[in-house]
Amino acid sequence: MTGTLAVIEPATEAVLEEIPRAGAAEVDAAVAAARAAYPGWRALAPGDRAEKLRALVAAMEAAHEELSVLESRNAGKPISSARGEIGMAIATIRYYAGAPERLLGDTIPVAGGQAFTFREPMGVVGLITPWNFPLAIACWKMGPALAAGNTVVLKPAELTPLTAVRFGALADEVLGGGIVNVVVGPGRVCGQRLVEHADVAKIAFTGSTEVGRSIAAAAAQTIKRVTLELGGKSPNIVFEDADVELAAASAPWAVFDNAGQDCCARSRIFVQERVLDAFMSRLETEVKAIRVGQPLDEQTEMGPLISADQLSTVSSFVPDGAPVAFRGSAPDGPGYWFPPTVLCPVAPDDRAVREEIFGPVAAVIPFKDEDEAIRLANDTIYGLSGSIWTRDGGRALRVARAVEAGNLSLNSNSSVRVTTPFGGFKQSGYGRELGPHALDAYTEVKTVFYAT
Ligand code: NAD
Repeated sequence: MTGTLAVIEPATEAVLEEIPRAGAAEVDAAVAAARAAYPGWRALAPGDRAEKLRALVAAMEAAHEELSVLESRNAGKPISSARGEIGMAIATIRYYAGAPERLLGDTIPVAGGQAFTFREPMGVVGLITPWNFPLAIACWKMGPALAAGNTVVLKPAELTPLTAVRFGALADEVLGGGIVNVVVGPGRVCGQRLVEHADVAKIAFTGSTEVGRSIAAAAAQTIKRVTLELGGKSPNIVFEDADVELAAASAPWAVFDNAGQDCCARSRIFVQERVLDAFMSRLETEVKAIRVGQPLDEQTEMGPLISADQLSTVSSFVPDGAPVAFRGSAPDGPGYWFPPTVLCPVAPDDRAVREEIFGPVAAVIPFKDEDEAIRLANDTIYGLSGSIWTRDGGRALRVARAVEAGNLSLNSNSSVRVTTPFGGFKQSGYGRELGPHALDAYTEVKTVFYAT
């Protein structure tokens, strides 16, 4: 170990816990443990692996409130949101607990015999995760990876490692040692070591596009399999024929959820000109009513940002003189507070429109017609998610097909479900998590020919 890591509570700036900080040697040890556990885990009968995963679900359910409080304090998210996220983490493992018995292959008629395909596990999989939805995102990867028969090394973000460490202890108790290994340390040391390690077969990464790019480049050295869930700058498109009140009432939660630190944040709100005033008026009422406060308060709807660095980055998008239409409230320090903020009018080339802010700042941009809405929505390097609000079914489908993004909602801002695939187009990444598609990302297809 290379010293300790002080884990900070973002709502108070106080040290929540000091934990050992891992270095390259601990990553090597974790990979060795995962490698040693792999043959046994892989060889379990599918029903037995499923049973083990169901036992892990039961252990997580018993720890649901403990994990929620830990996540809420460490990530600064409202306790109600933290409970929902831990619930999703549990639901994800439960969903994939059914997978070991449903990893099906094909039988393919060929000349001279019969061909079969098998889905084989890859071996040791490295999981590198961000600080915004710590345990939920780890479980999106953990569920399919373990179900397919891989063992894993999880490297959580240094800012929010506590639920991962607790989860690792639960997994050790329930599954046995070596199957889930957690190393907490700096990305440039521990993350990089995992990416370069010859005994790691695949890296599943969620984080910034910048780090994702460097991981893809480094992984090329060992032809490591990689899936990347990266940044976003998602559109929320409101047509004049929509239920404008409903669209405006739910728009804040499409961008200020998790204090805007959400890869799916619909931070570019495109509103058709004729309904702009009605939309802005309802949006202002909603934004001003957001309860920003202490994460453990049951009434709180938005907490602080994750760190002083994040506060300074987000603040840079709203300099003096920025076109602030209105904003909500935020407590005074200590804590990394930033009020929900709506910018309008904003030029399409403004930094606040082009770059991922990862904070509670939304830009509202008027548009004239459907073609312009599609053009503006696609004018970004990202393609993760988005929403389309209209009562015209034909338009809803036309625009949904035209917007370049992996996850779209019609008349809703929902992005993620355990049972449906999730992932990005363009520089938002590649590969899909969740749903049945995620199993493709943690298995190799093997073809076997049987001569008859
Ligand atoms: P980040 O890229 O800074 O870090 C993510 C993880 O990578 C951390 O664990 C970090 O320690 C590690 N890391 C850093 N440098 C590394 C390196 N050189 N090699 C290997 N690992 C390294 O991201 P963040 O600030 O923790 O999270 C915010 C970003 O994550 C945002 O851009 C957001 O959009 C993105 N995100 C995407 C999704 C998605 O599903 N698409 C979900 C959540 C967050």
